[in-house]
Amino acid sequence: MKTVKLYDINPYRDEFTAKVISCTKAGENFEAVFNETLFFPEEGGQDADKGVIMVTGVSKEIPVLDVKIREDVICHILPESIEEGAEITGKIDYARRFDYMQQHSGEHIISGLAHKLYGCTNVGFHLSEREETLDFDKLLSEEEVRNLELKANECVQKDIPVKAYYPDEATLASLDYRSKKELTGPVRIVEIEGVDMCACCAPHVPSTGRIGIIKFVDYIPHRGGMRITICCGMRGVKDYVTKQDVVSRVSAALSAPTEKIPDALDALFADRLRVNEERVKAGERYLKVLSEAATKENGNVVIFGEGLDTKLMRDSVNDEMAKRDDYIGVFNGNDTEGYNFIIGSKGRDCMELAGKLRGELSAKCGGKNPMIQGSVQATALEIRAFF
Ligand SMILES: [Zn+2]
Repeated sequence: MKTVKLYDINPYRDEFTAKVISCTKAGENFEAVFNETLFFPEEGGQDADKGVIMVTGVSKEIPVLDVKIREDVICHILPESIEEGAEITGKIDYARRFDYMQQHSGEHIISGLAHKLYGCTNVGFHLSEREETLDFDKLLSEEEVRNLELKANECVQKDIPVKAYYPDEATLASLDYRSKKELTGPVRIVEIEGVDMCACCAPHVPSTGRIGIIKFVDYIPHRGGMRITICCGMRGVKDYVTKQDVVSRVSAALSAPTEKIPDALDALFADRLRVNEERVKAGERYLKVLSEAATKENGNVVIFGEGLDTKLMRDSVNDEMAKRDDYIGVFNGNDTEGYNFIIGSKGRDCMELAGKLRGELSAKCGGKNPMIQGSVQATALEIRAFF
């Protein structure tokens, strides 16, 4: 027996009474079927309604864990069994239902407009408590996406009625409506006049004004088309509040009004780049001074410094290697904390030296000819003596 879909008849009620047709064990839970229900099942990319049921005469509330639909029979997943034939009162979480209606009606407006304005087809839809995404078969430009968002909000402000009905076969055949799949049996049409006409089974707001706001929060290329993430109604307001908070903090940190944030960031990054370049140049000058003052131990050049950049150390070793065949070592650190180092040579065996460093100074090092690197816990005097 088909379940009467009360959410189809009046989606703005939050309570109903019904008779238990059956209740069977399914895994750890139970599946209860009523003669009629307000609970919208998981269907068409949308999560099921949440809520509770109460058996008449029993004050206990039983949570509805999930709701499924199988060939027009709606199953309520319950954590416990209820008696067949009993009367129940069901209560849906209406705040959540209303939020879902806002999101879903928003989706119809965008899909209808994307189709009319840009010839895009909606090929995917997902709505959960966390997120709402719409997939289209075409990738639009940034300007087109922005226009779509503005036009969708114009539809909200016009407060156009959202009508749901089951046309007879002849009428249905004459209608130009969107549908994701080939449908059989009675088709429920959701119409937003002049904006969209779509085959859909879900509850919707009574008119577009009740959506409040449609906010695009992201759009990315997706499977040859694009995916738009949106939030409507209070979700949109909350998103705005969160983002305003972020903007205010960034604005205060940069001492710039909102509209000047991009310029202030450009200036900040340019300054950072300049400081970094200066730091590199200062490092190069420092290493040059160090190498000029470097001691030669048996012809090997040993340079000591502190706070040296690894890339600069490597560049310095390369420079010196071009001038002589002996070992060139750059040691960075101090006698207390030890040194990290890079040693190179174009004429001598660095691998042999690595073995000796490990044996005599307990250094940790690796690499291969003509360059090795590592660290050692020894004083500058001990390192010089080693060379
Ligand atoms: Zn729909």
